[in-house]
Amino acid sequence: MSQLKILSVASEVYPLIKTGGLADVAGALPLALRAEDATMMTLVPGYPAVMEALEAGEEVRSIPLLFGGSARVLAGKAGALDLFVLDAPHLYDRPGNPYMTPKGADWPDNAFRFAALGKIAAAMGRGLVAGFAPDVIHTHDWQAGLTAAYLHFGAGARPATVATIHNLSYQGQFPATLLGALELPPEALTFNGVEHYGAIGFLKAALQLADRITTVSPTYATEIQRPETGMGFDGLLRERAPRLRGILNGIDTDVWNPADDPWLAVTYDARGLYARAANKEALQRALGLNPEPNTLVAGIVTRLSWQKGLDLLLDNLPVLLGEKMQLAVLGEGDPEIQARFRAAARSFPGRVGVFFGYDEALAHQIQGGSDALLVPSRFEPCGLTQLCALRYGAVPVVSRVGGLADTIIDANEMALAAGVATGVQFAAGTDDGLALALRKTAWLFSDKETWRRLQRNGMAADVSWRNPARRYIQLYRELVPGQALAMDTAA
Ligand code: ADP
Repeated sequence: MSQLKILSVASEVYPLIKTGGLADVAGALPLALRAEDATMMTLVPGYPAVMEALEAGEEVRSIPLLFGGSARVLAGKAGALDLFVLDAPHLYDRPGNPYMTPKGADWPDNAFRFAALGKIAAAMGRGLVAGFAPDVIHTHDWQAGLTAAYLHFGAGARPATVATIHNLSYQGQFPATLLGALELPPEALTFNGVEHYGAIGFLKAALQLADRITTVSPTYATEIQRPETGMGFDGLLRERAPRLRGILNGIDTDVWNPADDPWLAVTYDARGLYARAANKEALQRALGLNPEPNTLVAGIVTRLSWQKGLDLLLDNLPVLLGEKMQLAVLGEGDPEIQARFRAAARSFPGRVGVFFGYDEALAHQIQGGSDALLVPSRFEPCGLTQLCALRYGAVPVVSRVGGLADTIIDANEMALAAGVATGVQFAAGTDDGLALALRKTAWLFSDKETWRRLQRNGMAADVSWRNPARRYIQLYRELVPGQALAMDTAA
């Protein structure tokens, strides 16, 4: 069996540039695949942070004209990652995050910025870079979605394609009038092509045209086929269900390792959980919480958006405080939710501590110092923070949706009796469910032995990339002639 060559196409990649879980996956999967005898190269836009991190970047192709300017494909390394970088200063040499101006508005030319990514990925699938011929192109989310369209509507043999949905709510919709400017032919604007509710849909193109679709948990894979949670794609996804698969994410267990975490006051493992007390105290001080060792600290590490259900948590603050818990919040996003948390911190000094912004160190300190981690999401494709929490012995309290449902074993009577529970689950999107979950969490916390068991079970869970990487390899092999058969024989 020859070694598989995969081109991953992503608009963010950890640790170079990250706004969410997509970056974590794009950064971790290539490294996990090395153990499986596959090579994954990653194509990313040449944002300033990427250009800076690129070591010994070598031009492997120049492109005289790409949507209004010249561009180059560079090959090089950034830390452990093997990258192709699309250096197109007219599209990517800008401040701010990958999608928005520093003032928070979408860049007006986002259609072209990410069409360029897809166009070059497709061209690389057809030999744009001499000596590099991928067996599979694996695209992530809407930003890389047009890859499948450029391959489908272009001429010549093409590699197999896999499209991964990290979050169906970001769809990349642009006016149909841009079709020609995006260098797509008129016949692309149909239901069987890129057309989506009268517009050009980047994610639609991927979901319609990729050979396989994956999403990041089995439960989310079923949720997105239902009208109430399919965000307009449920019909298409039901039709393509035989090609749709849910593969859970892992986390980088070197980056997230409580036994070797430079951001923690004290490192620890499952046998030395008592050492978490020092981290808890450090966290309480850092966020202005009363340094009470026996008070349950509930942590939150999140983007502040409607999806994450934090308004429901704020509505339930009286319950949380009534149960004598403290709240430690790290979040970035929605100013309205920020204002509500800020007001709560002012009203309950020493009991609610908040920090707004993106802060890796504090994210680790909350995982290493909180007793419980709250994830009250309305929907959650996979969720990574609950996996980090498992690994750090912070007991996850999660809504029963998507990957949260798939990764946390609820402390119901049977699971407690069998000694397998790892957290608390509740019905998503309801005040009542969350209130009950908070009360149950306080009750579980009051029984030190049960709580320790929850922590230890969580820390024993395999949250690494090992199993997910094997599932992706299996999927790629199904798509590459000769490989699936060889795999069956080997099994
Ligand atoms: P999403 O991708 O929807 O934002 P995930 O749970 O899949 O949610 O991934 C979130 C990732 O981003 C986790 O690695 C988490 O630790 C990190 N993160 C989220 N918000 C912050 C923040 N404000 N500061 C630091 N890290 C954050």
